[in-house]
Amino acid sequence: FMYNKIELAYDFNALEPYIDEETMRTHYGKHHTAYETNLNKALEGNEKYTEGKTLEQLLSKVNELPADIKPAVVNNGGGVLNHNLYFSILSPNPKTAPEGKLLEEINETFGSVDKLKEELNNAAVTLFGAGFAFLVKDKDGKLSIVKRSNQDSPYMDGLVPVLGIDVWEHAYYLKYKNLRPDYVKNIWNVLDWGKVEELYAEDYNI
Ligand code: MN
Repeated sequence: FMYNKIELAYDFNALEPYIDEETMRTHYGKHHTAYETNLNKALEGNEKYTEGKTLEQLLSKVNELPADIKPAVVNNGGGVLNHNLYFSILSPNPKTAPEGKLLEEINETFGSVDKLKEELNNAAVTLFGAGFAFLVKDKDGKLSIVKRSNQDSPYMDGLVPVLGIDVWEHAYYLKYKNLRPDYVKNIWNVLDWGKVEELYAEDYNI
């Protein structure tokens, strides 16, 4: 494969009771695998567009791709990136609060961590249909909250996501049914701020 999904750093049942084993098994094992497979299939024979590029860089310049592969890259490339982010920021042993530069920036932008959570929860709950709510940073390290439908990636707008909440029904429906707000509220129990700090500290490289 040219571009890969991440390995899960924990077992399928490790996020219980907040995210159930069957959901994780299906979400990572079936949905995420399908994004990976379909992305790489779409890129077969199109190596001139991908050579030397990270998937993040490919998505940030997705408008330069030919019309016959662009939709597949948006949907499945976005799918791989969004899910690599989502699964990597969850942990059975999370760091429960941000520190350092990230904390400073959160306080400056949102007022407090609680206020950020409230705004991100609101974005996740009010997103109509399928998509993600993200905390993103721009090239200057400024934070903001965005929502995106389907698998649209913030990288397409030059924004680097550092935290993403998947609100496709496949992310919660087996356990929470129609109660998306409960899923969104519970996800903070397994959200690893250490990973978010790490992503925030990385160089802007797209
Ligand atoms: Mn998903």
